[in-house]
Amino acid sequence: MSLMITDECIACDACRDECPNYAIEESDPIYIIDPDICTECVGHYDEPSCIAVCPVECIVPDPDNVETMAELKLKFEQVNSEE
Ligand code: SF4
Ligand code: SF4
Repeated sequence: MSLMITDECIACDACRDECPNYAIEESDPIYIIDPDICTECVGHYDEPSCIAVCPVECIVPDPDNVETMAELKLKFEQVNSEE
């Protein structure tokens, strides 16, 4: 499943450079995660790197974008083959 950013985001910019898939964008008033690109860090790290750096813990699983581990691995291969 991809992750999403809630409206508790303080737009601190800590997460954007941590995303290995470049899935996080600055937006107004809060940052956003592209669900087509976020793999929950599957393929890169054991844990979502954006959650680890967010000071207000506003990055959560997106219930509208639930995916299996196999789907996340496939997405990782697709996203990273396009680079
Ligand atoms: S979980 Fe990983 S891939 Fe998804 S937005 Fe966070 S850092 Fe990027
Ligand atoms: S680290 Fe958290 S508070 Fe900072 S921009 Fe990212 S989602 Fe928003």
